Amino acid sequence: MPPPSRPHRAPRPPRRGPRPGRPLPPPPLTGPDGTPQIALTPRGAERWQSGHPWIYRADLAAVPQLTGGEVVRVVDPRGWFLGKAFYSSTSKISLRWVSFEDVEVGPALFGARIAQADALRRALYPGESTYRVIHGEADLLPGLVVDRYGDVLSVQFLVQATEARRELLTDLLVAHFHPRGVMDRSDVHVRTLEGLEPRRAVLRGEVPERVEFAEGLVRVSADVQAGQKTGAFLDQRENHELAAGYARGEALDCFSYLGGFALQLATRATKVTAVEISEQACEALRRNVERNGFRNVEVVTANAFDFLRDAVDEGRRFDTIVLDPPSFAKNKDAIESAVRGYKEINLRALQLLAPGGILMTASCTYHVDEERFEAMLASAAADARRRVQIVERRGAARDHPVLTALRETRYLKFYVLRVID
Ligand code: SAH
Repeated sequence: MPPPSRPHRAPRPPRRGPRPGRPLPPPPLTGPDGTPQIALTPRGAERWQSGHPWIYRADLAAVPQLTGGEVVRVVDPRGWFLGKAFYSSTSKISLRWVSFEDVEVGPALFGARIAQADALRRALYPGESTYRVIHGEADLLPGLVVDRYGDVLSVQFLVQATEARRELLTDLLVAHFHPRGVMDRSDVHVRTLEGLEPRRAVLRGEVPERVEFAEGLVRVSADVQAGQKTGAFLDQRENHELAAGYARGEALDCFSYLGGFALQLATRATKVTAVEISEQACEALRRNVERNGFRNVEVVTANAFDFLRDAVDEGRRFDTIVLDPPSFAKNKDAIESAVRGYKEINLRALQLLAPGGILMTASCTYHVDEERFEAMLASAAADARRRVQIVERRGAARDHPVLTALRETRYLKFYVLRVID
């Protein structure tokens, strides 16, 4: 047998770029097609190559004169093309990935992405007409959120680039869905990071005061003009329906809003107490209870923290409890206090549950991840001196997909727990 030949060694590639020691000439500030061009630092280029869709200001090496909201060419420190991105002049997140290709970022690309996003929802929910159509980055349209409520669209333009293309994006949505009306619900705080004012306005056609949709056996009415978020919390829809299957006996839904959970609990439980702090939300909730003909739901306008504490003091008992609070931490610094908040309500809920009782508990705080949330639950169970099982670990509905490269798109946690004794 001939001896194994030496592995063939490829000839050294010619060295690219200038010789060591000589500084690189900065890449030009416009691309060959006249598009503004931004060079990344080596660290920024590495981050881009890893697929992360956000590049921070500190990772930009050279920025041309820009006003914000432009589509820019992104190049590495040597000037090699990396892709295209939305530019923001004010946010710490300067660039948001739009493409790895040198393509025109215009109507054709946006239209294709809208169609691609909608195709997933139609496949997930055949015949359904209420769902999140566009979940920002996770649907490759950074800074755009579109919720569909039947023939009404409720839209948020969250960054300078989508704001600058509001008319174009709305035209494309209208061409795809032929809605009766399009509501602009860009009245959100995050826009201030982009130097944009909050805005709430009818963009196209007519937008009714209320829209109505089905969730399993119940009908939910939401206000897209003035309700929270785009009108409703569509991310919990699949969990709402799941909750019906666990409901029994005496039930409690805290942070109820329109009653997404309370109405489901009412289909099976003997009695439901829905606790919500906003008077306006309580009115909408009462209308929903009436609309469905439930006689077993009591709506309580109260701070859920106080309600839970008083209920423990009064020695009350529940068989099914849902906790779905608003986000307790908008940034990393608030994590500890957020965890304390979660622990307080979960501890009380565990104290209130009868043996065999079910706790469905959610957190939409991205900064409190699954690990921290589960540690908090374990500590609450220990303090309550209860033995608790995790029966299900869930997240947002499937029309809120998670981009693997962007953990921030995985924000909602939803646990089903059972108190054994
Ligand atoms: N569970 C709802 C969504 C809840 S959003 C659903 O599935 O659709 C959070 C709700 O909690 C909001 O309606 C807000 O008004 C309410 N809220 C905020 N702080 C509260 C508090 N301390 N006590 C009770 N409700 C509160």
